Amino acid sequence: MADQCIFCKIASGEIPVEFVTQNEHAVAFRDIEPKAPVHVLIVPRTHVAGFHEIASMPAATTQSMLELIDEVAKGQGIAESGYRVVTNVGPDAGQTVFHLHWHLLGGTQLGGFA
Ligand code: AMP
Ligand code: ZN
Repeated sequence: MADQCIFCKIASGEIPVEFVTQNEHAVAFRDIEPKAPVHVLIVPRTHVAGFHEIASMPAATTQSMLELIDEVAKGQGIAESGYRVVTNVGPDAGQTVFHLHWHLLGGTQLGGFA
């Protein structure tokens, strides 16, 4: 765990948050400032600063995290209607939490983006 990392604290249970679902390697919880009717964050329990450090994450964790995205989409009832999976990296993307996470967005017609 990285000291002062909010997602480490959430994943470990130090900051109590209701999980949408979880598995051995990752947790899923609702974004505090949702940008869509379904906006869930999928967060590995291991601290990795962002996608740029994905190579340091154990392969089993990466696999498990991606599977959790699929599980959440199905559980939230948006697997058929569609959804978007986003990870922000660095200043130009507006990354604000430096613990790797995927945004799962859906439940409405999502706008296009360049
Ligand atoms: P990013 O800007 O891509 O790093 O995404 C960070 C996301 O974490 C933002 O969408 C925030 O709204 C969300 N967030 C920050 N703190 C919390 C929290 N305590 N619980 C849930 N979501 C959070
Ligand atoms: Zn962390």
